[in-house]
Amino acid sequence: MLDLKGKVGLVFGVANHRSIAWSVAQTLLNAGAELALSVLDERAQKKAQALFQHESQGMVEQCDISQIDQLKALIHKIKQRWGRIDFIVHSIAFADIQALKNPISTCSREAYLQAMDISAFSLLSIVNESRELLSEQASIVTLSYLGAEIAIPSYGLMGPVKAALEAEVRYLAAELGSLGMRANVVSAGPLKTLAASAIPGFKQHLKEVGTSNPRGRGIEHQEVANVVCFLCSSMSSGINGEVIHVDAGQHAVRAF
Ligand code: NAD
Repeated sequence: MLDLKGKVGLVFGVANHRSIAWSVAQTLLNAGAELALSVLDERAQKKAQALFQHESQGMVEQCDISQIDQLKALIHKIKQRWGRIDFIVHSIAFADIQALKNPISTCSREAYLQAMDISAFSLLSIVNESRELLSEQASIVTLSYLGAEIAIPSYGLMGPVKAALEAEVRYLAAELGSLGMRANVVSAGPLKTLAASAIPGFKQHLKEVGTSNPRGRGIEHQEVANVVCFLCSSMSSGINGEVIHVDAGQHAVRAF
């Protein structure tokens, strides 16, 4: 059993009960962690509040990650309440829906930079702003997809964005490793969520992956959450700079 009693985590990306971050937060809370949940807007804030049974378990704060002042304010609140962060879960992505639909070669600079900013640069800016609060063996985990490694036509613009995110994690692992900290990626198979529904042809993709992967069915939110939470815990202390696929073996056969 995962035991995270006494640990403080900062989790980004709960939009609703289908969010990967929702399952992650639920699992972390069950393991005894206290959490700061960072959400985009008021709607998500109301939903995320339902994850807590008692206010001693943590707090929910709004933060648009593209607004540095909002990130600074969030970190300040964590500093006041706990004075430290033991792990960070970055489960955020955004790209303009039309840019996702269009061929990647036609992507505008504006759409490209926005997707990179919110989905990839945000990890660096979170680490930078929370640096003084990161505890000695802090663990950082982010979410990616196989489209970072191979071209999956329907994934379009998000492929290069996730490739950048995965590279960032390797460099963070190198930078923070000597301080005893770690950074890792969970590359998840397709799951029905708000973000995924913006990917063109996602429903069909989900169906195909479900039947073509070695297990003969897709994955579940909880299977991804379990690995994210393992990476947050000291049970994974030897793992750093890694991309762990939680896709029921899809990356190994790559047929879909
Ligand atoms: P989701 O829509 O539930 O989560 C995406 C989150 O990003 C939302 O909470 C949204 O509010 C947040 N976000 C977007 N713009 C933001 C901004 N400016 N500031 C702050 N937050 C912002 O979908 P999800 O599938 O749970 O996505 C979580 C992560 O998992 C993403 O990085 C996604 O790429 C990744 N992922 C998803 C799948 C999948 O099939 N669902 C597969 C592999 C990886």
